[in-house]
Amino acid sequence: MIDAHIHLDDKRFDKDREHLIKQAQDAGVNAFITPGVSVSGFSKLKNLTKLNPSIIPSYGLHPYFINQHQKDDIKYLDMWLSANQSCALGECGLDYFLKGLDKDLQQFYFDAQIELAKKHSLPLILHARGAVDAVFQGLKDADYFNAMIHSYNGSIQQTKQMLDKGIKFSFGGAIVNPNAHKLHKLVDYCSIDSIMFETDAPDQSLHPDFKQRNEPVNLLKIIEFYAKITQQELTQVINQSERVVRAFFSL
Ligand SMILES: [Zn+2]
Repeated sequence: MIDAHIHLDDKRFDKDREHLIKQAQDAGVNAFITPGVSVSGFSKLKNLTKLNPSIIPSYGLHPYFINQHQKDDIKYLDMWLSANQSCALGECGLDYFLKGLDKDLQQFYFDAQIELAKKHSLPLILHARGAVDAVFQGLKDADYFNAMIHSYNGSIQQTKQMLDKGIKFSFGGAIVNPNAHKLHKLVDYCSIDSIMFETDAPDQSLHPDFKQRNEPVNLLKIIEFYAKITQQELTQVINQSERVVRAFFSL
């Protein structure tokens, strides 16, 4: 299995990162797509991938940190992508859920990063919290659809339009909640060829332990739960979803 979205570089993993990676590997999770979120963290992420090659880096400017980004960071990201291995561009996108993140400024960094993804021929790792329509619109404006939306939760209608464009979706711990009926319908609607699985650890703890730190080993629980609610065979789900991740990130 490959975790399609996990922040292994997060400082909440500094004390026991190697232990947690080993634990996940013992459960069958062999690689971790780890998206950077701001230029201040790029070197740390790069160094971690040198220490542990199962950490697969991507670099981008996350909308959460909009107040830290400088416009010149786009140029820096451009140079960084020319000089360093990156399986994608991201995490980037739009967040209309959190207050205090200027929408116009978010749009500036999002549009600029779509252009960089085009320039470097990289897929996009997208964050679209409360902003699925706006993120899709940004892709349409740029006519670039080589993208995955992580922790996806949209309407069936939005999803259909994006699937038609070849956009992929990644689902995480939110599906491991027996009461998430709408999300389960959505997951079931997407064919297995268009979806990936992620922990988004250390965030997004699993039901019902919402106060705990989420850990890489939980990917297995998420995939197991998916196989159960969609009545598919677990081994087949594991194999097929790994194929989707490998194809998308060119691994
Ligand atoms: Zn993330």
